Amino acid sequence: MHPSTSSVRGRLAPSPTGALHLGNVRSFVLTWLAARCNGGWIELRIEDLDAPRVREGAVDGMLDDFAWLGLDWDGDPRFQAGRIAEFRARLTQLAEQGQAYPCICSRRDIEAAASAPHAGDEGPIYPGTCRGRFDTVDEARRASADGRLAWRFAVPQGRTVSWKDRIAGAQSFDVAAQLGDFVIWKKDDEPAYQLAVVVDDGIAGINQVVRGDDLLPSAARQVLLHEALQQASPEWWHLPLVHDEDGRRMAKRTGDATLQALRAEGCSVAQILTWVAESSGIRLTRLPRQAADLLAGFDPDRIPREAVTWRGLLER
Ligand code: GLU
Repeated sequence: MHPSTSSVRGRLAPSPTGALHLGNVRSFVLTWLAARCNGGWIELRIEDLDAPRVREGAVDGMLDDFAWLGLDWDGDPRFQAGRIAEFRARLTQLAEQGQAYPCICSRRDIEAAASAPHAGDEGPIYPGTCRGRFDTVDEARRASADGRLAWRFAVPQGRTVSWKDRIAGAQSFDVAAQLGDFVIWKKDDEPAYQLAVVVDDGIAGINQVVRGDDLLPSAARQVLLHEALQQASPEWWHLPLVHDEDGRRMAKRTGDATLQALRAEGCSVAQILTWVAESSGIRLTRLPRQAADLLAGFDPDRIPREAVTWRGLLER
């Protein structure tokens, strides 16, 4: 464990939904470097709330990959599953503040009501059907076809969320117009990703978040949740994603180049860390044997601002 010599508090926040691919590896190594290059503290948080997507053995596989790469963390890992009461308390707070409301819409209702589907993974913008519709939770439950409810965050109208992202540069989102009221509690009675992340970043005092730039729209939502829960937002570092040679972004579900598979083929830690270094503007003076060997040459200003393509490993 490293004694913290700065106020940086970062986190490694893997979802145990499959083996780590090279895009995950690169972003976790950069997350670790961003904290440790300043003598910062770092938490390991396992985002295991989405039970149907959690894969047996995935946590052990990730911990083994982290150890192999030389990524360490401070304190005990924090698991999200099994801490539902903590998340529920914050949902209750938001509801009491008038910033969350029950929603009985099905995905099909929302798609039918949406004027235009939103590009990418974000889904259609919620048209606000249930906002202000029910006086009590019981009334909403009675109106629900199956008695189940989700909860949505009531996004303030006309509010632009802006920040200077350390990697992605100036960002600005009109969250109501571009993203809409979003789910913070799911119909299966579990906290949604957006709420769980913000609650846990608040509990751990996280002030630096490094992750893929597919989460930029989520950062805009999370800024609003941090404000509603009277917490400071972290500094954001959103990295361009790693693509494969066909230009597709790497994803766990498509089984792209996993670290486990490369290790099984005999790939060395020096090869992987050299690829991370070369794709991230990190100067190396010798073959790296662990992530700490990348610290001296790490400079966030040199991280490329465009997507990186994985072309396999060169012979070394
Ligand atoms: N657990 C998420 C993932 O593995 C990351 C969430 C976050 O960094 O906020 O993609």
